[in-house]
Amino acid sequence: MRTFAFTRASSLEQALTTRRAEPASAFVAGGTTLLDLVKLDVMRPARVIDINALPLTLVERLADDRLRIGALVTNTALAHHPEVTANYPLLSQAILAGASTQVRNMATTAGNIMQRTRCPYFRDVAAACNKREPGSGCDARHGINRMHAVLGGSDDCVAVHPSDMCVALAAIGATLTLHGPRGEREIDFADFHRLPGTSPHLEHELADDELIVAVTLDPPLEPLGAAYIKLRDRASYEFALASAGAMLSLDEEMIGEARLALGGVATKPWRCHEAEAILEGQPADRAVFGQAADAALADAEPLSHNAFKIPLARQAIVRALRDAARAAKEGHP
Ligand SMILES: Cc1cc2nc3c(=O)[nH]c(=O)nc-3n(C[C@H](O)[C@H](O)[C@H](O)COP(=O)(O)OP(=O)(O)OC[C@H]3O[C@@H](n4cnc5c(N)ncnc54)[C@H](O)[C@@H]3O)c2cc1C
Repeated sequence: MRTFAFTRASSLEQALTTRRAEPASAFVAGGTTLLDLVKLDVMRPARVIDINALPLTLVERLADDRLRIGALVTNTALAHHPEVTANYPLLSQAILAGASTQVRNMATTAGNIMQRTRCPYFRDVAAACNKREPGSGCDARHGINRMHAVLGGSDDCVAVHPSDMCVALAAIGATLTLHGPRGEREIDFADFHRLPGTSPHLEHELADDELIVAVTLDPPLEPLGAAYIKLRDRASYEFALASAGAMLSLDEEMIGEARLALGGVATKPWRCHEAEAILEGQPADRAVFGQAADAALADAEPLSHNAFKIPLARQAIVRALRDAARAAKEGHP
């Protein structure tokens, strides 16, 4: 492992000044992504800036009914926070479907959003990877691509965005607050992660001299039923092959509002607006859920080893919608 200098930032300004002074630096929060990738020689920061002393650990309900979550709130704290379990059960379920208790105790909200892909070619410095080394090619496209994306890929990259938590954020709707030299700015979560296109190394809209300080969730849907279904090779401690996060409000048997997002199958957290339009105003039954699933996957393009992901994702969607509808009917989230 390469050595790096280390700074423990005691203020936001110090963190940002240090970062500006040394562009080859990286922030560290829980370290569960960064340090793995440093050990693999995939990330090579000359300096690591520890941001854990910054006051970014509050979860607070705002006057407009949105929920503001500090960037350093751990995945465990967020999943079990009473505001989240009561009003955003999808977020709680999605976080708890990820990683392990130990990892979630360390992992932070912003770190989860910024986590890098698990594509084995990205994580192997001997392989060609446009995301790691622009212009080097993509060994995944014609390699062993069983785990890769069927939605949002390009000739240059088919790496999946691995986060479970981000599937819930995509469905719920959220705003990120970024802090940089010109102060704070906000960006819609849906616009934060980029599609790979011809520049897969550019993964998000955060500038080099900015830090994520908070994530603010849209007001909760009411009355709400929610479900996160994650299908994977083993029952725990494994990334999704396909996952679906659904939220439904019901008026008798009819669907009011619907939200649907996918994980494990796309190059960024994937909101399914076409499927939502099919669901809204229709009866909450299996036929409608199937039509919504087909719409969500209409643009899916399988690679040589992952055609199975399309029917798998369809199952995940139908089950998530069914469970969300059941929860809404039973009157608990
Ligand atoms: C064994 C294992 C299994 C896992 N399984 C899953 C899983 O099933 N599902 C899942 O979703 N995830 C899984 N993960 C990933 C895990 O959720 C992430 O590693 C974690 O959320 C990253 O958070 P962190 O605080 O540790 O980030 P760090 O490692 O500290 O940072 C990650 C990246 O974010 C940047 N960063 C951190 N904070 C900020 C900030 N405030 N502003 C700007 N940039 C910032 C860092 O510079 C770095 O580039 C797994 C991880 C491991 C190690």
